[in-house]
Amino acid sequence: MASFTLHGISVSRGIAIGRAHLLAPAALDVQHYLIAEEQVEAEVSRLQDAIATVHKELQTIWNDLPKDSPAELGAFIDVHALILSDPMISEVPLEIIRTRHYNAEWALVTQIDELSSQFDEVEDAYLRERKADIQQVGERVLKVLTGSATALANLGDGEEAGAQMIVVAHDISPADMLQFRDRSFSGFVTDLGGQNSHTAIVARSLDIPAAVGMYNASTLIEQDDWLIIDGDAGVVIVDPAPMVLTQYRERQAAQARERKKLLKLKKTPAVTRDGVAIGMLANIEFPEDCAAALEAGATGVGLFRSEFLFIGRTGHAGNLPAEDEQFESYKKAVLAMKGRPVTIRTLDIGADKPLDAAEQTALNPALGLRAIRYCLAEPQLFMTQLRAILRASAFGPVKLLIPMLAHAFEIDQTLSMIEQAKAQLRDAGHKFDPNIPVGAMIEIPAAALTLPLFIKRLQFLSIGTNDLIQYTLAIDRVDHEVAHLYNPLHPAILQLLAATIAAGAKAGIPVSVCGEMAGDTKLTRLLLGMGLTEFSMHPAQLLAVKNEILNSDLQKLKPKTAKILRAFEPAAIVAEVEQLQQL
Ligand code: PEP
Ligand code: MG
Repeated sequence: MASFTLHGISVSRGIAIGRAHLLAPAALDVQHYLIAEEQVEAEVSRLQDAIATVHKELQTIWNDLPKDSPAELGAFIDVHALILSDPMISEVPLEIIRTRHYNAEWALVTQIDELSSQFDEVEDAYLRERKADIQQVGERVLKVLTGSATALANLGDGEEAGAQMIVVAHDISPADMLQFRDRSFSGFVTDLGGQNSHTAIVARSLDIPAAVGMYNASTLIEQDDWLIIDGDAGVVIVDPAPMVLTQYRERQAAQARERKKLLKLKKTPAVTRDGVAIGMLANIEFPEDCAAALEAGATGVGLFRSEFLFIGRTGHAGNLPAEDEQFESYKKAVLAMKGRPVTIRTLDIGADKPLDAAEQTALNPALGLRAIRYCLAEPQLFMTQLRAILRASAFGPVKLLIPMLAHAFEIDQTLSMIEQAKAQLRDAGHKFDPNIPVGAMIEIPAAALTLPLFIKRLQFLSIGTNDLIQYTLAIDRVDHEVAHLYNPLHPAILQLLAATIAAGAKAGIPVSVCGEMAGDTKLTRLLLGMGLTEFSMHPAQLLAVKNEILNSDLQKLKPKTAKILRAFEPAAIVAEVEQLQQL
């Protein structure tokens, strides 16, 4: 067969080379037939039994989670268990059997299709991707009903000794991904999925090359085809020519060598050639991520995205983590970091991270009731979190970071609520750090343009470039149609970044960057040249960025960066940024 290339969305870096292993969706070969009246209750029981079996399966997967699993996996399994318990899945199909006399598989597929089409109508990209979770749960029940093996159970004999396997599927559930961990499995390709799909998030945290959103890859690729996944480019090469294969093997080996070399830098302090020490902080989503942060030599946590403790817990407000549960999570992170500072960001809920998917009705959620706006509108929820974070500050250095501030009154209200939370804790006899530093995310252009308001009131700033780019360039960061306009090197972004870093330095307050720009090695020197001394990023990126820092000389970078900041032509900016690599 001739070689061909498929293009999708890159969700995790690196190169994978191996043979295709296709996972067929059970939904494709479902039988459709009508059952007789007297068989109805037996058919209803068959479906109920299958649902109960899947509950047990999920419980077993949960119990068997290896200790070092990314914390997201447990959370995703919980989401699937919740979906399975929802009457939309656990009851409506039973009614379809009773009223329409469909067989169990048909009834289930009918309901899943109905739910899926409702999701298609949803405007929000994050929510649309949750359709995949419902389909994955449906798949699991179908597999039990039809008696077909789950995912990889039948693998083995055909597996070529030593050959790595690349899983190709219409979609893969996070729970099924667990089965791939211990096999000679090196990457995955799916038809569905986007940047925010759960499977993509898991792939990133497992550090496995992956390409998603490949449309019909699972029908074009055949079992045992040789595949190359170029995770950096989001490309899959099917049946590559021998020369291409050799080239990619070389690139893969070079990347592996590079990673090994970088590991040696774990304990090396991040100091530039001209002697400036740089803070290397980690972005985490769950306290368990601290292990990876320390493994990569992080000097602290620069961004704990606390909303991940809340997402997937909803439906009912009573389901949200209470003060004690939150406190235990924050304390766990503080203790894990052993005296290194932990920056906990208060709830950044809304937009692509809705607390309750069902209640998200805003036409333009990224501009809506998000982050601090949400918290100020829900004072009880906010106070609970503030108390929990403050209590954790008794166990080690904690900093409080507030997302999406733009107005002076928002800062003042927040600070006054923090004082109230402190007073409540004092009354209750709880310990906390009375001088806990409070800082703002600079992620709205209005904030970057009115820095004196922030500097006067707060102790530190952290630039959220992901949102700063979204709001400055007016492009929804989860909308694929405008993804090509998402440009960190737009002169407007560079100006705002440089101004924020300079204002912080002048006032003597720390400024970090915690958006994706901080973890991009192609931009490390540019940020250093602007005077940035604190970088916060996903732990997997820390060592590569440190390597750039060790090879940089600020005295040389600063005048060149100043020149870049005076430029407006995109081509000139790109060329100059590339030239920084040669210094
Ligand atoms: C950002 O906006 O750059 C940021 C770090 O926050 P988040 O990606 O969680 O919005
Ligand atoms: Mg943000």
